[in-house]
Amino acid sequence: MHLARFPRYRLGHFPTPLERLDRLSEALGGPEIWIKRDDCTGLASGGNKTRKLEFLVADALAKGADTLVTQGATQSNHVRQTAAAACRAGLQCHALLERRVTNQGADYETAGNVLLDVMMECSFDFRPEGLDMNAEAEALAEKLRAQGRKPYVIPGGGSNPVGALGYAACAEELVAQADAASLRIDHIVHATGSAGTQAGLLAGLFAMNAPIPVTGYSVRAPKTKQIDNVHALAVRTAELIGARGTLPREMVVAYDEQVGPGYGQPTDEMVEAMLLLARLEGILLDPVYSGKGFAGLVAMIRAGAFRKTDRVVFLHTGGSVALFAYGHLFNNQKAA
Ligand SMILES: *Cc1c(COP(=O)(O)O)cnc(C)c1O
Repeated sequence: MHLARFPRYRLGHFPTPLERLDRLSEALGGPEIWIKRDDCTGLASGGNKTRKLEFLVADALAKGADTLVTQGATQSNHVRQTAAAACRAGLQCHALLERRVTNQGADYETAGNVLLDVMMECSFDFRPEGLDMNAEAEALAEKLRAQGRKPYVIPGGGSNPVGALGYAACAEELVAQADAASLRIDHIVHATGSAGTQAGLLAGLFAMNAPIPVTGYSVRAPKTKQIDNVHALAVRTAELIGARGTLPREMVVAYDEQVGPGYGQPTDEMVEAMLLLARLEGILLDPVYSGKGFAGLVAMIRAGAFRKTDRVVFLHTGGSVALFAYGHLFNNQKAA
């Protein structure tokens, strides 16, 4: 694997820290829990989309684009990081926000990520839930082209093979950190949505021949659909990297137990897991993605999925900006 073959536009602070969580590991009675701090990628409060955008923005610039077009849910971390990347690269940004969540109170459409989108001059329009949002984004790009602009369309979550290269790079970074510290990683756990993070990680691990199991906790799709999505993108990403052979479907492990009532809908397990990490380690997760991914890890540990001596890495994908759109969840959670 040699990712310098692909154009890359630097946006983030890398490598992100890999830290051991002593108080959490002790409180749960093992395994040894580590955290990969991709919430600290540095671009306008960070998150996993920054890694993908380094490859996507480079591709946009190589193709002569002057505008980034993308889409996501109203509180999309991806749209916020795309808006920031556009600022950095001197591009315009247009986004379509899907009203996928409509029951989370007055702040949901103005605070958190939406506030930052406005600050960074990302122009956005809302769409009702259930449209083909990537098709809507293509239609918007067509309109911009008719006005003489040169749009570059980034799919939801930045999840195509070019974007997923960012997580192949993360796999390489993580393995290098672990090797330098003589740390044997037994398992990686994270939240999975538009699939690019897990697909990129798996493609990178496959290409490097580093057989570390990865478990994704879906935040939206049912298990089989999520596995299909991740596998299809992982195969294409591994091909783009030039890995030998076809990435096997058995490499893709995902569960849907933490989705709860649906995308962006809180669960008790998510709230409990977020408070656990905040109060033991001072680390903030988000209610839509990383909180549910972390709840999945806690559930695995309580179900005895690991030995006490295992080293498990939770990949923190960011998102805490959305907390300010979900204040009602925590306003009355007094410390015990
Ligand atoms: C987008 C996102 C994810 C999911 O990553 P995918 O690559 O879309 O699967 C996880 N956590 C956060 C905070 C995100 O914004």
